[in-house]
Amino acid sequence: MYDSAEDILNYVRENDVKFIRLAFCDIFGVQKNIAIQPSELPRAFEKGISFDASAVSGFMNVEESDLLLVPDPGTLTVLPWRPDHGRVVRLFCDIRRPGGAPFEGDCRRLLRQTAARAAQRGYVCKFGPECEFYLFHLDEEGEPTDRPLDRAGYFDIAPLDKGENVRRDVCLALEEMGFTPEASHHEQGPGQNEIDFRYSTAVRAADNVVTFKSAVKAIAAQHGLHASFMPKPLAGAPGSGMHINMSLYNRDDRNLFLGDADGFLPEARQFIAGILARTAELSAFLNPTTNSYARFGLFEAPRYLTWSRQNRSQLVRIPAAEGDFSRMELRSPDPACNPYLAFALLIEAGLEGIGEQLELPAPTDCDLYEAGAAGDLPALPASLDEALWLAERSPLVARVVPQATRDKYFALKRAETEKIGRGPDRAAREHALYFD
Ligand code: GLN
Ligand code: MG
Ligand code: MG
Ligand code: MG
Repeated sequence: MYDSAEDILNYVRENDVKFIRLAFCDIFGVQKNIAIQPSELPRAFEKGISFDASAVSGFMNVEESDLLLVPDPGTLTVLPWRPDHGRVVRLFCDIRRPGGAPFEGDCRRLLRQTAARAAQRGYVCKFGPECEFYLFHLDEEGEPTDRPLDRAGYFDIAPLDKGENVRRDVCLALEEMGFTPEASHHEQGPGQNEIDFRYSTAVRAADNVVTFKSAVKAIAAQHGLHASFMPKPLAGAPGSGMHINMSLYNRDDRNLFLGDADGFLPEARQFIAGILARTAELSAFLNPTTNSYARFGLFEAPRYLTWSRQNRSQLVRIPAAEGDFSRMELRSPDPACNPYLAFALLIEAGLEGIGEQLELPAPTDCDLYEAGAAGDLPALPASLDEALWLAERSPLVARVVPQATRDKYFALKRAETEKIGRGPDRAAREHALYFD
């Protein structure tokens, strides 16, 4: 583990590092980076490396466009898919204004602050995301096609499953990058895969999601394939979710989801209640594309705001797990979300449930896909438009996301829904916008 600028400078000197990628995300969680040479690294730590923020989605206007990247030494990792000689490492960065003040559109900082506030109240929330993705063939020009890599289904094995080598290389790369990959398998859809890694505290877990997606894309490309995290890339086939597993620890480092013979401890019940109460209005952040809403209510993706211990048609499931693995699983989020904003909003929603001692509704222990089973249960938003309408009126969102970032997020997302529009060409426009 490298913790200081000093450690990093030594590492770079001793390990034939030639390029340092300074990475950060725009307000939609899309990773950006600039590569600097080792000679520039001391300056990066001291003063920051400036970049044109007007060119980054949701950051700034052209009138005041300079921002600075200051690397966070705790985030050093090699990029194992790059050459061994003249190694490439990556560091996530804090984003500052000239003069040193923090930039309010830095979502990583926002999550760090939210987690710190939770810690002051005596709670630590840990996150374990399960990210699904599709692998597609490329055409002769190297452009992605919509032909999935295989026709295999859930847990299938080779030769039906053609994704095993990509998953293997991704898992090996993740290990080199300090992750603990836990499980990987072929998912239900043709060419659809999932790789799960060990849970961590909020900022680390969000960093891991961003790193994971870039690793999958880079390694798929090395295999001559295109990896897509689009929530519903193939009409009629399962969508790709990013289930978010959450556990909650108190000051004594006790996992409150562990419970006793009667079930959960009161705080865990209230935490789940808080999440259930707010998921609809957070959906514009958990499911940020127009395409996200085509996934709901089909192929084990939820539609209603319900929970159950086992059942996979529900929004919240309590997986069978013991000890430290006791947790809740939120099943609506998808891999297009900005994990920093998503985790920050979920921490707040859960802690609000505790603060207000919210009552957990009764579990819904039936298959909600069966005709008539849902009755008049409250549902997730049916479109990004509806989700934005709810988010724009959400006091919780207003509390967590600073006004400037909120305004930009909503304006850009509104423009996106307008651009996608309706009608027969909608699917093609979504594909053009989200497939990559
Ligand atoms: N792909 C499903 C979803 O959209 C999940 C399937 C599963 O993990 N069993 O959420
Ligand atoms: Mg899973
Ligand atoms: Mg899955
Ligand atoms: Mg799951």
